[in-house]
This record gives sequence, structure tokens and C-alpha cells, in this order.
Amino acid sequence: MAVDLHNYVASIPDYPEKGVVFRDLSPLMADGQAYKQATDQIVQFARDKGVEMIVGPEARGFIVGCPVAYDLGVGFAPARKKGKLPRETVKAEYALEYGTSELHMHKDAVKPGQKVLITDDLLATGGTIKATIDLVESLGGIVVGCAFLIELDALNGRDKLEGYDVLSLMHY
Ligand code: 5GP
Repeated sequence: MAVDLHNYVASIPDYPEKGVVFRDLSPLMADGQAYKQATDQIVQFARDKGVEMIVGPEARGFIVGCPVAYDLGVGFAPARKKGKLPRETVKAEYALEYGTSELHMHKDAVKPGQKVLITDDLLATGGTIKATIDLVESLGGIVVGCAFLIELDALNGRDKLEGYDVLSLMHY
């Protein structure tokens, strides 16, 4: 029987700062049935789109994306913070509350024309995922979808993803 994934989200008030409710997905990831159910739902979304490659930003994008890649029998490529990848990279900058950050991918991580699904644990303002989309597209990949465990509706991250097919398993 299916479980309610909401029961595997811990909501932490005032973390990492006052006024923010952090949605902690580690209970979901620690439970075999809930993790598999969430993974299966994303696999189904991806399979319909003929996904050939999964890309996820560090670090929780790996936890969501890798089991999906394994199930589909396709590859996984990480988008990582500066200084983590050893070969030549492309980079994309994105805004944080204070200042900017950047994500990198290896130049050969995605092949031109490859159909890519991007995964992360949570969509907030959308900055992280938009930077990941920019990286994939700069390499010639085609983003056929973005999948999240949680979407924080009030932060309007979906506005940055207009024109992309977005799956969010839970909304807060
Ligand atoms: P965005 O770039 O969309 O504003 O933020 C999304 C990124 O921040 C994701 O990579 C996600 O892991 C992290 N993040 C922001 N808020 C939360 C939260 O409440 N819970 C979790 N698990 N991650 C968050």
C-alpha cells in the first residue's frame, strides 16, 4: 500500500534562520518504502519523456536523481559548487539572498541533443534549478523535465521554470 510522503517530511521552525521553516527530507530518504515510492513516481514521469540522462545539483539532487538513473538504466551527471570537478567545466551563476553562487558541470557531461531530466530535493526560489538548466542547455542538452520531492509554492520558483515540465511530489 502507498504511504503518504508528507509523513516523512520533518518541518523545522527557525532553521537555518528565524522565520524560515526548513523542510527536512532525511526521514523520507531513511525509509526504504517512502524513498522507493518517491523514486518510482519520478521514474514514471521520466520514462514517458524518453529521458537519456539525469542531472542533479549537489548534494540532495544526487540523492533524488541517482536511483532514478539506476532504474532507467541511464547515466547521472552532477552539477557541483566551484572547485569540486577536476576537468574543464562550464559554469552558471545564480543569486542567493546575499550575493551569488555558481554551479559547474564538466564540459562533456551532457551530449548535444541528449534528453535530460533535472532532479533536486526541493524547489524554493528556483535559482539553483535555473542555473542547472542553463548549464545543461549550454552543453546542448534538451531539458525535458524537472522533478522535485517538494515545491515551496509561496516562493514562486515555478515562474523561473516557465516552459519546462515540472513534477513536484509534494507542495508546501
Ligand atoms: P532555490 O535555489 O530554489 O531557492 O533553493 C533550492 C535549493 O536549496 C535546493 O537545492 C534545496 O536543497 C535547498 N533548500 C532550500 N530550502 C530548503 C528546505 O526547506 N529544505 C530542504 N531540504 N532544502 C532546501
